[in-house]
Amino acid sequence: MNYRKFQADHLFTGGEWLSGDSVLVTSQEGEIADIVPVAEAGGDIETFSGILCPGFVNCHCHLELSHMKGIVPEKTGMIDFLVRVIQQRGFDAGIIKNAIAEAENSMLQNGIVAVGDICNTANTVEQKKAGRLLYHNFIETMGFIESTAAQRFEASRAVYEQFARLYRTPVESNSIVPHAPYSVSPALFQLITRFPGNHLLTIHNQESAAEREFIEKGSGDFHRLYQALNVDISFYKPREEQSLKTYLSHFLPNQSLILVHNVTTNKEDLEVIASGQLPIANLFFCVCANANIYIGNPLPDIDLLRQYKAAITVGTDSLASNHQLSILAELQTIHQYFPHIETGELLQWATLNGAQALQLDDVLGSFEPGKKPGIIIVDEDFSQVKRLL
Ligand SMILES: [Zn+2]
Repeated sequence: MNYRKFQADHLFTGGEWLSGDSVLVTSQEGEIADIVPVAEAGGDIETFSGILCPGFVNCHCHLELSHMKGIVPEKTGMIDFLVRVIQQRGFDAGIIKNAIAEAENSMLQNGIVAVGDICNTANTVEQKKAGRLLYHNFIETMGFIESTAAQRFEASRAVYEQFARLYRTPVESNSIVPHAPYSVSPALFQLITRFPGNHLLTIHNQESAAEREFIEKGSGDFHRLYQALNVDISFYKPREEQSLKTYLSHFLPNQSLILVHNVTTNKEDLEVIASGQLPIANLFFCVCANANIYIGNPLPDIDLLRQYKAAITVGTDSLASNHQLSILAELQTIHQYFPHIETGELLQWATLNGAQALQLDDVLGSFEPGKKPGIIIVDEDFSQVKRLL
C-alpha cells in the first residue's frame, strides 16, 4: 500500500496535542492509518510549518442563501435583518446556482469537510450530488399560526423527499427542523419532533435580546417583524417562563439538538439544562460569531458556556450575514474576543465537537485509524489554512 506521511511544527488530533516529532500516516486517499514517531516513519515525509489538524466542520450554514452576499447592510439589528432576508425575492435561478457552487468551493478551500446546512428549498440538491463535502441537511420549517401547521409541515416534507433521494449511504442524512422559537407554533413543533427518523435537530436559539423579550414577555421589537410579514399574532400569549424551557420541552429523549447562536443564553438557562429536567439526549451549542457581529448582536457568553462544560461547535451562518464561509475566520474572531481560550480548545470545537454534533464522528473530526477527516495545515495565529488532503 502506498502511504502519505505528514509532519508539522504541531499536531492536533481533534482532541489533543501530540509532539511535533509525530508523523501522521494516511493512505493516498487520506484515510488515517497511524501516527508514529518520526524515528519510525521512514522516508518521504512531507513537512509543513503550522498545525496539522483534521478538516473543519461547519455546524451551521445556509448554502442556498449564498447569492445574498453583501445585500443586507451590516448592523441593522435582528428584526430588520430578518425582514430583509425574508422579503428578498426574484433572484434569477442561474445566479442562485452559481453562488451556491462558488460558496461550496470557498468552503473546500477554507479547509471545511462537512456542513450542517439549513435548507428551506431544494436549491442546493444539484450541487450536493457531486459529493465534494459531507452534509447533514436540516430541512427548515416555520409557521407561527397553529392552523397552518400541517400545511407548512407538508411543504417541508416535500423538500425533505428531494434530499432523501440524494443519499444512498447512511453517512450523510437529513432531518426536518424548526426555524426558531418565535416562528414555530406548538402544533408544528409536535409534527417536527414526531417525524420518523428525526433524531438530529437544530434550532436558531436566543439570537437577540428582542427574541427573549418576545418569548418571555410577549412584547418588544418582534411585533414589528410580524407586522412587516402581515401576520396577525394577536392570539399570542407568552408562557411567562424562561425562554429555553418553553420550547425545549417539545423535544424527545432520543433526540440530539444543536442550539445555534445562544447570544442571550444565561446562567438560568444553563442551570435548567444542567438540572436534567429537559428530555434531550445530547445538546450542542453552535457559535456563529461573525454573523452575530454582522447583524449587530452581541457575541454569546462563551466563558459561561465553558463554565457549564457545554459542547461548543462553530458555524458560519450564511453569506447573507457573513463576509465569508470560513471556520478559520470564525476562530480568529472568537480568539480576538476571548484571547485566553487555548488554541487546542478552539480547534476541538471546529473539528471533533462539530463532527459529533453532526453525528459524522465515525468518519471525520479526528485523526483516528479508519477515519477520513481531511487534513489541513493551520497557522498558529489562525491567519491561514491550507488543505493538504
Ligand atoms: Zn442561520
